[in-house]
Formats: sequence, structure tokens, C-alpha cells
Amino acid sequence: MAAPANTPKSEQWWTRNPKEFDMFQKILHMDLGSNYKEVIRNGPVPKHNVWTDHAFVIPWAVAPIALQYASQVFLGRPWSRLEAFGIYTANLATFGLITVRRLRILGEKYGHLDAINRERDRVAENRVTPLVLGLLATISVRTMMAAIIAYKPGRLPFLTWKLPIDMALYMVAVDFFFYLYHRALHQVPWLWKFHRTHHSTKHPTSLMAPLADHVQETFDIAVIPILAYMIRPIPFFHWYIACLYVNYIELAGHSGVRADMGHPVLGMLLRPFGLDLVVEDHDLHHRLGMRAGNFGKQTRIFDTFFGTTSPRYETTPEAIGLHNQKGSKAPPPKAL
Ligand SMILES: [Zn+2]
Ligand SMILES: [Zn+2]
Repeated sequence: MAAPANTPKSEQWWTRNPKEFDMFQKILHMDLGSNYKEVIRNGPVPKHNVWTDHAFVIPWAVAPIALQYASQVFLGRPWSRLEAFGIYTANLATFGLITVRRLRILGEKYGHLDAINRERDRVAENRVTPLVLGLLATISVRTMMAAIIAYKPGRLPFLTWKLPIDMALYMVAVDFFFYLYHRALHQVPWLWKFHRTHHSTKHPTSLMAPLADHVQETFDIAVIPILAYMIRPIPFFHWYIACLYVNYIELAGHSGVRADMGHPVLGMLLRPFGLDLVVEDHDLHHRLGMRAGNFGKQTRIFDTFFGTTSPRYETTPEAIGLHNQKGSKAPPPKAL
């Protein structure tokens, strides 16, 4: 559960000397760092370059696959299912932590949403360990499932031209099942108790993405990815790269970074139709609590189709300089 804003300073674990932190506190401290102080930005919302996201993600996607290929072709040593699980999980976990660091740097560069009202939340001390364990469980269970269901030991690693299609369809399928279950958690009264912990923060940080009770955790980690995979089974290596991007979006969606920062894979396809997701969408979802809209976490396809979108306040077309877009009457924003 997020720490209340009025927690006495003496009880704020993050104000202690970082040398006194335990391992879990060190990990969690990566989301905002020691020098975090919110600065209110009033200028136009910066446009984040999505190609820098690809440049960041792709090496992490390719590295374990290239390593496995080299092991099999040059050393004649294919990876067992267990070895594949261990190495791909370690890669995904490291990628997750480096992503948190990247989002912290982007937050320092661009600022955070709704900063005028409140700083980003911190996690209460008693939630630090469960939260970090939840993050590790998310990463390891997802790769374990992929290793069990889709991995074929002895088969040479491969990527095909279908990779972008497989990734896009998998992400939309994840979003569809997530939308249904997430909306039910909000709108079926007796289910809200399973989701309340996730909403204990109104201004999350990237590492609060796995903040959840066990029932919600199980669906997030295991059930939804399996349902999405069953709709259209895809090769292990395609599934792994799609998981990398899904995790990236889940972490970014909780970062509160004040930028026009959309989905690196689906954003360009969906934006012309107004169906793309940006960081502000899930940030607003947290701020609005039980009665929130914006149930999708990869797209706004299903929110738009079922009429559950919440309007954006900060990353509007006018604020990001798209003032000539249809329907916009605002004057062009001043340059940064
Ligand atoms: Zn929710
Ligand atoms: Zn959330």
C-alpha cells in the first residue's frame, strides 16, 4: 500500500541513508532515487520519440536469442527448458530494473503528470518486500509459462517476418482479456476488494505496477497471458519479445512521466483512430479510483468501443502541439 502523504518524516524509509537500505528497499528506491523533488512544468507537453524506446528494448530482446543461437551453432550446446527459463528470466528481470532507471531519468527530464497537485507516491515500508517479490514473480512466472508451453528444446532460435504481427495481435488479445477482468474488478461490487490495493496509490511510480493482492496478481501474471496465447499460439521467441514490450508498457504506464509517450508497437497504428494509449491514461485511472474509466493497459480499443474512456487533461492534442488536429480550437502552444 502506498504511504500516505502525511507520513511523519521519521517514518519515511526513503529519507534514510541509502547505505542502510535492505536489498528490497534498494530496488524500490530506483523508481524515484534520492534526489527526487517534483518540479512543476507549465510548458507544452514534450513529444517522446518512440524510436528511442525501440533502441532501448531491442538489444534486450535480441541478446538472449543471439546467445542461445551461438551456443547451439558454435558450441553445439542447445539449451534445455530449464536453462532457457533461467537465462530468459534473468534477462527479463535485468531489463525490468534498467527500464525503471530509464523511466526515472525520463521523469527527471520531462517532469510528472499532475505535479501541480501532488508529488509521486512512495511505498509504505511494510509493502516494500511484497512489492519487489510481486515484480520478480511477474517476471519469472511469465517466462516459466512460456518455457513450458511454447519452448521446444533443441530447436534453433529463430525470428520470422511475422514477429510484428504476432506481437501486435498478442498485445491486443492481452488487452482484451485485461479489459474485461479489470472492468469487472471495478464494477462488480464484491470484486473491488481484490483490486483496492492496486488503487492505494493515486500517483504511482513504475515499480508500483505489480502492487496487488494475490488474487489480482494471479490473473495479471498468469491467467491473462495464457488466455491471450491460447487465442493464437505464437513461437516462444516471438512471445518472449512481446512479453518484453508488454512489461515495458506496464512499467511506463505507472511512471507518470509527463510526455506524449505512447505504445512503441501499437501506438503508430492506433493513433490515427484515437485508439492509442499514452502514459496519462493509466495515470488518470489511478487518480480516479473505483469509479475510473480507462481499463485497457495496452490500448484504448476496448475502452473506446465500450464507452469507458476518461478524457485526457494534460496530454491533449493542444498541449502536445497538435493544435491543427480536427476538433481543436486552442491556439498553438509556445515552444519549449
Ligand atoms: Zn483499476
Ligand atoms: Zn495500475
